[in-house]
Amino acid sequence: MTHLADEIAKRRTFAIISHPDAGKTTITEKLLLFGGALQMAGTVKARKSGRHAASDWMEMEKERGISITTSVMQFPYGGRTVNLLDTPGHEDFSEDTYRTLTAVDAALMVIDGSKGVEPRTIKLMEVCRLRTTPIVSFINKLDRDIRDPIELLDEIEAILNIKCAPVTWPIGMGKQFKGIYHLHQDRTYLYQSGQGHTIQAVRTIDGLDNPALDEAVGSLAQELREQLELVLGASHEFDLEAFRAGELTPVFCGTALGNFGVREMLDGFVEWAPSPQPRETTSRTIAPAEETFSGFVFKIQANMDPNHRDRIAFLRVCSGHYERGMKIHHVRIGKDVTIANALTFLAGDRTHTEEAWPGDIIGLHNHGTIQIGDTFTQGESLQFTGIPNFAPELFRLVRLRDPLKSKQLQKGLQQLSEEGATQLFMPLNSNDLILGAVGILQFDVVASRLKSEYKVEAVYQNVEVHTARWIRCTDAKMLEDFRKKAYNNLAMDGAGNLTYLAPTRVNLSLTEERWPGIEFLATREH
Ligand code: GDP
Repeated sequence: MTHLADEIAKRRTFAIISHPDAGKTTITEKLLLFGGALQMAGTVKARKSGRHAASDWMEMEKERGISITTSVMQFPYGGRTVNLLDTPGHEDFSEDTYRTLTAVDAALMVIDGSKGVEPRTIKLMEVCRLRTTPIVSFINKLDRDIRDPIELLDEIEAILNIKCAPVTWPIGMGKQFKGIYHLHQDRTYLYQSGQGHTIQAVRTIDGLDNPALDEAVGSLAQELREQLELVLGASHEFDLEAFRAGELTPVFCGTALGNFGVREMLDGFVEWAPSPQPRETTSRTIAPAEETFSGFVFKIQANMDPNHRDRIAFLRVCSGHYERGMKIHHVRIGKDVTIANALTFLAGDRTHTEEAWPGDIIGLHNHGTIQIGDTFTQGESLQFTGIPNFAPELFRLVRLRDPLKSKQLQKGLQQLSEEGATQLFMPLNSNDLILGAVGILQFDVVASRLKSEYKVEAVYQNVEVHTARWIRCTDAKMLEDFRKKAYNNLAMDGAGNLTYLAPTRVNLSLTEERWPGIEFLATREH
């Protein structure tokens, strides 16, 4: 195997999808512990609560106790190199979450065992479906009284429309939680409480019929045997192909807080999750093993660290190999740039990268030239597809407190829209600036960043816009007609695309009926 092929085979790039409070942060912490990236669990919490206090934006994050930003954590495990992309945890998700899911090859779905499938999880699963991303499931909080595990599997199958293949099965729950039985290994792992901060030595018992199991867990052993018969009849056997096709999910269980069952899940994850997959561009499919470097930007983030007040573009490497000091081609602007100081995010700390391989994420310093969706190559004019802008559903009109600052406002909003923090619309018939968002929190982020980074104070008013649609039409004459007739509802977005701002749902459907030759697009790819 070549060095490149070897590095690709080792890579696992994934994100965690879950409803807030299901335990994503806690499990992240334990994964980093197993990856040797943390000595003691507890450090990830610190990220939520203090290290970035110097920036207003992070201040907001702290106040709300949520993670607005996403970050990237790389750690070694079991001979693999794992890249975990963090997604914002708050219910009010933003477009960043969606775009992060375009940069992974697999996802870990964490479910709170007492609550089952929750709304946010359903939404995130829908996004994973768009690219048939393979899903591994973890049922969490077994140290509490959870719902009947068989019922939980039924719910996952019915609501998320994916087959479940149990891999570990709980023995008891809550105060009676005794451990898990690994169906593939025919081995029981016995739980000890109060060991969540460390990697614990776990006592195991081989064989389901081993009398030692009855000794260790009492009558629960017989219950387990009976339950497993039921489970095996009703559920599916693990099948790698079906998993890779997104049709079946292996299900693990445990407690993230107690750091139990997580290691068994991680072992299964690195074994089965796919290595970096080929990616589509507008002209051809890019295989990761191609010698030449390529990648796309899925996220831009500012003020990650108060000591570095710059913006970082997160690029997913799709093929070839990045080396420090390498010259790469920025396709959209047609320029070659030398990347001397790309960053990696080893367990949250920014370090300079010597090299990176397909599946890795590197951070490029961005002084305003890089946009979400931009492709970088070694010369070929490629454009990766599938990094969407979603038609916003929430709109605000921006009014300045100090009218003399309109230049700063324009510049600030332009940059924030390039980053994907918000979408900007400029009506053709006025000088208004209208912001669009998918989640309400995006407006707060914009307001706070305009204030701290651009020294602009603005007020945000409701505006009569129900939704936006990007306009596409190959017939120039018809487009010109449409432009004239619909002038009062048309705007340019931040990237210069013609957009229809519909005041009501009814207006949109009437307009669509009236103009059959015009496409009204609810998503726009960068
Ligand atoms: P996130 O919002 O998904 O990141 O959830 P967190 O990881 O912050 O967890 C939410 C709450 O659930 C916290 O109070 C955790 O301590 C708690 N929690 C997480 N995992 C477990 C678990 O396995 N058992 C119990 N009892 N609590 C847990």
